[in-house]
Amino acid sequence: MARVLVTAGPTRESLDPVRYLSNRSSGRMGFAIARALVRAGHEVVLVAGPVALRTPPEVERMDVESAEEMLQACRWAWPECDVLYAVAAVADYRPAERADHKLKRKAGEGRTIELVPNPDVVATLAADKEDRLVIGFALESENGEEEAQRKMKAKHLDFVVLNGPEAQGAKRTSLTLLGADGTRANFGPADKNRLARRLVEATLG
Ligand code: C5P
Repeated sequence: MARVLVTAGPTRESLDPVRYLSNRSSGRMGFAIARALVRAGHEVVLVAGPVALRTPPEVERMDVESAEEMLQACRWAWPECDVLYAVAAVADYRPAERADHKLKRKAGEGRTIELVPNPDVVATLAADKEDRLVIGFALESENGEEEAQRKMKAKHLDFVVLNGPEAQGAKRTSLTLLGADGTRANFGPADKNRLARRLVEATLG
């Protein structure tokens, strides 16, 4: 039995108290992985961005909004975990400033928003992974395998799960599991719960 940290869902990067930048991740794949891990007898800590999903039974859940909050929650949980499944669609950038009050429209004028890079949650945690297992996801619209291989090396992942943009918000999808040791396996098309069980079997045995 392992203790597994799972990140899921999008992050939300505030512009002001009302508005934010985010993406179309539903969190379904991450929650399905959490459920499959519990079914396989593992302990799960789930760090979730804003999603409209119920916590799977027996899962310890921490809710966060931004990438910085996600990193903070993960840093807190990681020392007690043996495996990381990074499924979250973390925003690459956040607004350089968060206004204290709702930004006002100026008639007829455009607005430029300055963005700064967010921390990379999985790369930060994998930097001191020692002998722990780290699995990442890559959603690619072109040169999928090449990009996924590049990310696996750059972020020190043991496995990368590759899927296409049609996976966003979908209940069924297909994916390819690439291992740092050169292994490769295709799963689906299937329901995300079924795919999650196959991934857990293939990565944790
Ligand atoms: O966004 P990208 O394609 O680089 O995501 C690849 C992997 O890195 C995913 O597992 C994702 O959860 C993770 N990631 C992260 N923090 C980021 C960006 C991506 O943990 N800021």
